[in-house]
Amino acid sequence: MIPYELIAKKRDGGRHTRQELELLVSGFTDGRITDSLMAAWLMAAYLRGLDMRETAWLTAAMVASGETVDLSGVDGVPVDKHSTGGVGDKATLVAVPLAAAAGVKVPKLSGRALGHTGGTLDKLESIPGFRVSLSPGELVSRLNRVGAVIAAQTANIVPADKKIYALRDKTATVASIPLITASIMSKKAAGGAKNILIDVKTGSGAFMPTLSASRELASALIEVGDGLGLKVRCLITDMGQPLGRAVGNALEVKEAIDCLTGGGPADLRELSLRLAALMVEMAGLAPGIDGAMSLVMKCLDTGLGAHKLKEIIAAQGGDARVVDDPGLLPAAPGRRVIAAESDGWLNIVDCSRLGLGSAVLAGGHLGVRPKSGRADQNREKREVDRGAGLVMLAKLGDPVKVGDPLIELYYSDESRLEPAGAAIAEAISVVSQRPQVRPLIRE
Ligand code: URA
Repeated sequence: MIPYELIAKKRDGGRHTRQELELLVSGFTDGRITDSLMAAWLMAAYLRGLDMRETAWLTAAMVASGETVDLSGVDGVPVDKHSTGGVGDKATLVAVPLAAAAGVKVPKLSGRALGHTGGTLDKLESIPGFRVSLSPGELVSRLNRVGAVIAAQTANIVPADKKIYALRDKTATVASIPLITASIMSKKAAGGAKNILIDVKTGSGAFMPTLSASRELASALIEVGDGLGLKVRCLITDMGQPLGRAVGNALEVKEAIDCLTGGGPADLRELSLRLAALMVEMAGLAPGIDGAMSLVMKCLDTGLGAHKLKEIIAAQGGDARVVDDPGLLPAAPGRRVIAAESDGWLNIVDCSRLGLGSAVLAGGHLGVRPKSGRADQNREKREVDRGAGLVMLAKLGDPVKVGDPLIELYYSDESRLEPAGAAIAEAISVVSQRPQVRPLIRE
């Protein structure tokens, strides 16, 4: 079958065979299938969907596009963690060091910013010197030495996802259950851990805004994982507002450090502790969730988690002094406060617009081209203002008075204020009745 026929088949709602999906993935990975053809297929798949068998075959074909990390030399039970993506979601930066401090081996393969959501790799790269590209050998040696790595899938690990992910980001084909499932599970399978914890976000800042769609995504992740011999557990958590207060690369790293050093917002602490405890439980290091929770709380309170973050940063070439002195992180010089125009309660109408606003301030992946003027093919090389972003000075449901500061914008390029402000204006409102605030951990 030629690519044209694959596109037409999906456009018309047909079901692919395993071989067709293998052809598509291998052809796109080695360049025989061009971006424009793949973009057309992605849109057809986005609109028509893929059934569970197709999703599992797509995932397997993506895993087969590169190497799989062999973790048999790791001393301990590796547990990986992933988030389906959100706004201000820096829980990885807190939960991974806590779990590793408690003895879990965490080979965390992360992604870059996608759509309105931030990417852990982009956040970590705001730490001077931090290297996200590790070879499988480097990954295993750091895992044994430090207990955790947070790295990119390299050119050799799921290269298909790397290319497809970048193309989905540009073609509005991200929010698709089968495409998200294949993207996440291919990386997790290739990462080598057999135990995977997935934080499935739900709400207007997630790719799946409704609880039912998030449940469907969680089920697909578990089922595809099962087919690949992986034990997958999912937590469904609220993304109706940013997690914590900071949205933006360096701002989020600073907030994660605050959390590990005894401060930080309560929601970030609650979620990170729960994720870390589940990882401890999955690794069999505590008999139940209560024991696991007290272990990770001890790691937080004694500063072991913060110390582990330093070790992770240093092992990946970064300047670990940022943990003691977050002032070493890049900071955008400009500040602009958005204030309440009436009395009432802060409502977040569309959390994704806050993510978009922050990405616009940073001049990031959403439509901004690197200096060369060529399209953003190589996402590692793009120019991003790592100090830019926003901080929520009020949270969903907080009472506010006219003139109260709601959000502080951090920027270097003043021309970005207007488009960012327009996105943020669509994200929030002040309402006369207290809006519903959903529990952070939904299921
Ligand atoms: N995270 C991923 O790794 N892939 C997606 O498609 C969405 C979120």
